[in-house]
Amino acid sequence: PVLRVAIMGLGSYGTRVAEAMRDCTKAKLVGVISGTPSKITAWQTRYNIPEKNCYNYANFDSIKDNPDIDAVYIITPNGLHHDEAIRVAKAGKHVISEKPMALNAKEGQEMVDACKAANVKLLVGYRMHFEPHTLEVIRMRKAGEFGKILFFQGLSGFTIGDPNQWRLNKKLSGGGSLMDIGIYSINGSRYMTGEDPIWVTAEETKNDPVKFKEGVDETIQFQLGFPGGSVASCLSTYSMNNLDRFFLNGTRGFAEMQPATGYGPIMGRTNKGEINQPVVTHQTVQMEEMSAIILQGKQPIVPVDGEEALKDLKIIDAIYEAAKTGKKVKLNL
Ligand code: NAD
Repeated sequence: PVLRVAIMGLGSYGTRVAEAMRDCTKAKLVGVISGTPSKITAWQTRYNIPEKNCYNYANFDSIKDNPDIDAVYIITPNGLHHDEAIRVAKAGKHVISEKPMALNAKEGQEMVDACKAANVKLLVGYRMHFEPHTLEVIRMRKAGEFGKILFFQGLSGFTIGDPNQWRLNKKLSGGGSLMDIGIYSINGSRYMTGEDPIWVTAEETKNDPVKFKEGVDETIQFQLGFPGGSVASCLSTYSMNNLDRFFLNGTRGFAEMQPATGYGPIMGRTNKGEINQPVVTHQTVQMEEMSAIILQGKQPIVPVDGEEALKDLKIIDAIYEAAKTGKKVKLNL
């Protein structure tokens, strides 16, 4: 079976997903939702999309009457995911949302509830959950090859450009680097250690308050404590380039990945040597696997559903609270 997908938001990542889907056999781009008519016509030509599968932000609720679309992949600014996902669910279509799923846990919970009520699946674009080097480290950790896990370090950042982009607009982004790139370290700390944190502490540093306005974080360091006794130490930033490193250590060994989450080849080594795995286009593999999850009920090794994404949003809420108050914040995921 082939998952027939419409992409909402034809921006830079939407374009990357569309190109990657050309190589899919179990998922197919069949529709678009966009506010820009010229983009719609360009995509129609490029991907052979029929007129009847093209929508804009005013009329896309009528996708419910379209039997040729199974799922909508929302790839718009973060602040729009919540309302759009709920509309898609009400139209009876499966929802795939980009990360972060929403701006906070309250919104995320509402999305989970809406999809449950509409009896549609809610998945989030956690492409690393299908990446072979990442899965190999997870396999080794589960097999006990690193011993008891005691430490994770996650460093996530890039230097952000144009000060007028939506990523620096609190209403559309929900915050700053943490929402956008720090989430990779948050999520990574969970799949690398195999546990959910029970407390967080955090400290924020802002060197450029003009570019990074109130509520838009430039750099945040955060620490996570896990029930098994391990800790994570992470940094999220919009002011350093090529910061993309994971390090996992246990009583018997380590895994080191750099780059750990970028689009290009993931590279890493462990105490046993180089991690040798196939280099894949993340978005192609993700869409193949999401097709199997939605249409065939396949269980992924690391979950990518709304409940999984909600945990990251709860951690993000707690990190912002900890950074603001200077206090340790307890979590119950
Ligand atoms: P982008 O700015 O390139 O594209 C966003 C698109 O949304 C644009 O086409 C824009 O026209 C459209 N849009 C619709 N309504 C809008 C509005 N009210 N204001 C502004 N734009 C509006 O951004 P992007 O880099 O494609 O990011 C989109 C989403 O994808 C974000 O949630 C981001 O976090 C996520 N993303 C995920 C990954 C990943 O690896 N999983 C990578 C990049 C981006």
